[in-house]
Amino acid sequence: MQVYKGIEMFLGIGNEPNIFLLDGEVLVDTGTGNTFAQLKEEIEHKFNKKQIKTIVNTHYHFDHTGGNKKFRDWLKADIAIHADDKEKIEQGETLAEMMSETTRIVTVDHGLYNGDIIKTSNFIFEVIHTPGHTQGSICLYESDKRILISGDTLFSDSVGRTDLAGGSMEMLISSLKKLSELPVMYLFPGHGSIRTSGIDFLIKQMLVAPKLNAMI
Ligand SMILES: [Zn+2]
Repeated sequence: MQVYKGIEMFLGIGNEPNIFLLDGEVLVDTGTGNTFAQLKEEIEHKFNKKQIKTIVNTHYHFDHTGGNKKFRDWLKADIAIHADDKEKIEQGETLAEMMSETTRIVTVDHGLYNGDIIKTSNFIFEVIHTPGHTQGSICLYESDKRILISGDTLFSDSVGRTDLAGGSMEMLISSLKKLSELPVMYLFPGHGSIRTSGIDFLIKQMLVAPKLNAMI
């Protein structure tokens, strides 16, 4: 479904995360890989696969990165992830076993850093490093359109859990503080429903009493 003009969201069911396609050019997360065939069909139906040049991962967890290899083989797209989560997917330490899955190792083409720009025809997304759920968790922020693609850092009513490898509540809180300074109208999280109102209130609420989401 189109959640904003130029932003397609493939809603994650069960363990699968939400996957976003920006301007038909940049894919954000790939799911476990188990829904690859269905996603491929949907993408082929609506978009030109040749225009998808980059796969950006919000963090290393298997439910977000397990499909990287299948998508890269199909699209010949580059793979990007924050430098702090790069080794995890290159060494296959993606917590696949928590989902009774086998990890799929991929090499990363671009290690991302805070402030990097992901540009498409109509969007300029900035990489915001938001460690906490994982060390290399990122959000993508479009300041002109006030859109935040938040991965597993912030959901529509909760925040990412911090008890898994590389997680830290202290870091999550400081990341939420960073996000609280950004005007956000559209919150597009890594799991669950999107949110289009009261996002500043939500972040303030989570800073006082963070409600941890159970999703990996
Ligand atoms: Zn996660």
